[in-house]
Amino acid sequence: MSKFIASRLASLDTYVPGEQPTGMEYIKLNTNESPFPPPAVIADIVAGEVEKLKLYPNTDGKKLINKLAKLYDVQPENIIIGNGSDELLAFAFLAFFENGVIFPDITYGFYPVYAKLYDIPYQEIPLQDDFTINIQDYINTSKNIVIANPNAPTGISLELDDIEKIVTSNPDYIVMIDEAYVDFGGTSVIPLIKKYDNLLVIHTYSKSRSLAGARLGYAIGSAPIIEDMNKMKYSFNPYNVNNLTQVMGEAALDNEEYFVKKRKEIIKTRKYTQKHLEDTGFVFTDSHANFLFGKNPKITGFELYSKLKEKGILIRQWNKPRISDHVRITIGSEEQMNALIKATKEILYEV
Ligand code: PMP
Repeated sequence: MSKFIASRLASLDTYVPGEQPTGMEYIKLNTNESPFPPPAVIADIVAGEVEKLKLYPNTDGKKLINKLAKLYDVQPENIIIGNGSDELLAFAFLAFFENGVIFPDITYGFYPVYAKLYDIPYQEIPLQDDFTINIQDYINTSKNIVIANPNAPTGISLELDDIEKIVTSNPDYIVMIDEAYVDFGGTSVIPLIKKYDNLLVIHTYSKSRSLAGARLGYAIGSAPIIEDMNKMKYSFNPYNVNNLTQVMGEAALDNEEYFVKKRKEIIKTRKYTQKHLEDTGFVFTDSHANFLFGKNPKITGFELYSKLKEKGILIRQWNKPRISDHVRITIGSEEQMNALIKATKEILYEV
C-alpha cells in the first residue's frame, strides 16, 4: 500500500474473486461460469463489428436495451446496462444506500465490500440454521434491502409472493433483488416493477448466457430509479459497455432457443450431480442455481477443496463462520461432473 491512499480506504477488505488460473488446465467449477460457449453465431457478428472499435461505444445502449425491454415487456426507460452486474450493484449502493442497507449474513461477498467502499452503514441479518431467509426479518424494516434470489452461495430461492411482501412493507426504501442465478429454476420478480417503484432487479449475462468474459449486466426498475442509476453511470464511466459486448448481448437474445436448451441442461446436470454426491454422504441445500452448496461430514470443506485441486478440479470454499465446512460446486458439463464425482469418491475412500 502507498502512503497516498485515502485513510478511509486504507483498511478496505476487497472482494476476493474465485481463482482464474492460467497455465495448468483445471476443470473449473469455482466461479459459476457456464461450461458452454456462447451461441456460435456470436463469433461472426463480433468479427463484423471490429471496425467499430475505433469509435466510442453508444453510451445509451439503445439497441440492446430495446431488445431487453421487449423480452421483459417493460419500457426502455426501465432498463440500464452495465459492465457486468457488479457495476450496477455498485451504482445502486452509491445512489441509494447512503442511510444504510441490510442483507443476509451469508450472501454474495461483494455487498459488504461496496458498503465499506462507499462508507454505507450495513447490517447482516443471519440466515436461519437451514440457510433459508426468514421473511419476517425483512418486513417493515424501514431499511434498504438487498437479497440475492436465488441466494449465493446457498442456491436457495424465495417465492415471488414473499418478495412482494418485502417490497410492499418497505415502500419508502429500495428493495434490490439480485437475480444472477434466476434462470436456473428461480422465479423472476421483474413483472412486479410495474406495480412498485421501490423495486430494483439486477441480472447478468455471466451465468445462463455464457458471457462472463464479455462483462454485461442489466438492471430493471421504475423509470426514476433507472434515471438515478444513469446519473451514477454518467458521473463515472459513460462508455461502460463496449461496442462488442453490446452486439454480443443482442445476439445472445436473438438465440433464445440456445439459451433455453443450455439452462435446461444445467438444471438436469445439477440434479444428476446432486444425486450422485448425496450417495457419498453429501448434504446439500435445495439449490435453484447453477451450483450446489453443501457439506460432507466425512471431510472438511478445505480438505475436499485442496484434494480436488490436486486432482485438477477447482471448487469454491470459504474460511468464514457458519460455512467453512461447506463447498460450492459450479455445475459444469455432464463430463466435467462425472470427473468430479469420480474424484470425490476417490478422495472420500482415502479419508
Ligand atoms: N451477483 C451475484 C449473486 C453473483 O454471484 C455474481 C457473480 N460473482 C454477480 C452478481 C456478478 O456478476 P457479473 O458482474 O459477472 O455480472
